[in-house]
Amino acid sequence: MHKNYIIGIDLGGTNLKVGLLDLKYSIKDKEIISTKSFLEKEELICGIVHSINRVIKYNNLDKTDILGVGLGFPGPVDFKAGLVHFLPNIPGWKEVRLKEVLKNKLSLPVFLDNDAKVMSLAEHRLGAAKGFNNVLCMTLGTGIGGGIIIGGKLYRGFNNAAGEVGHLPINERGLSCNCGSYGCLEAYIGNSRIIKNAHKEFRRDITLEDLSLLASKGNRLAIKLWRNVGKHLGFALAGVVNLLNLDAVVMGGGVSNAGRVLFDSAKETLQEQAMSVQGKHVKILRAKLGSEAGLIGAAIMVKEGQR
Ligand SMILES: [Zn+2]
Repeated sequence: MHKNYIIGIDLGGTNLKVGLLDLKYSIKDKEIISTKSFLEKEELICGIVHSINRVIKYNNLDKTDILGVGLGFPGPVDFKAGLVHFLPNIPGWKEVRLKEVLKNKLSLPVFLDNDAKVMSLAEHRLGAAKGFNNVLCMTLGTGIGGGIIIGGKLYRGFNNAAGEVGHLPINERGLSCNCGSYGCLEAYIGNSRIIKNAHKEFRRDITLEDLSLLASKGNRLAIKLWRNVGKHLGFALAGVVNLLNLDAVVMGGGVSNAGRVLFDSAKETLQEQAMSVQGKHVKILRAKLGSEAGLIGAAIMVKEGQR
């Protein structure tokens, strides 16, 4: 029997996406469920299992056709232990040995990792980071996540917790951060801070989409705000680039939709701030795979993990 399909799962604070992919990572079928419809941890786990079984059945497949299940989670995950430490935006998750639980319920190989690392895998194998050996992939949103590719491989670190670029300290006496520390990059360029700053400037509620639209139409206040975000970002990236001598930085996630004004400003600051050898050639690129990166990366994790 040939195992020609992989199940990819992308769990977010808003949606649970369950996809059926072939071995070339093309998405054959997809189910999207609101994460909020599951109140408890056990319900969510059951929801994941039911959805996987449904997708397999509706496509006239059998479990024997499935190579494995890959999952991306919005929080710290120990890839090797198959352990979800906690999920900041989904209550009730603490030190869950999910790999074991799902393996027992599904009788399929299971792989899980943090969503930013999963996205980094996807962008490196098939997206904007393809062909580069040393890359930082970032997701810019409510949280700032990251994955580091060194020598073409995902770098996981001692506790499989490397890549937390959002918690890179950029200010010794800075703003307090969701992680419990202060002065982190995320405290300056996470969604909620950008929206707060925009509210102050415009004296009204304004969404990130509006802010991007205004900037693209030449609104000076909006441009100033995005340039400021770019400055913080470029400053943090200068440190990363000096340390790791990267070929490229790939940025995805909602905030990256601000486009050129943000990327240009980040690049300017990075080049001013970084050492000349490291700063000169590094490319700053926009992620290519968009919202499908999570499903694709999850499938890559399964296929590469099975080799
Ligand atoms: Zn932090």
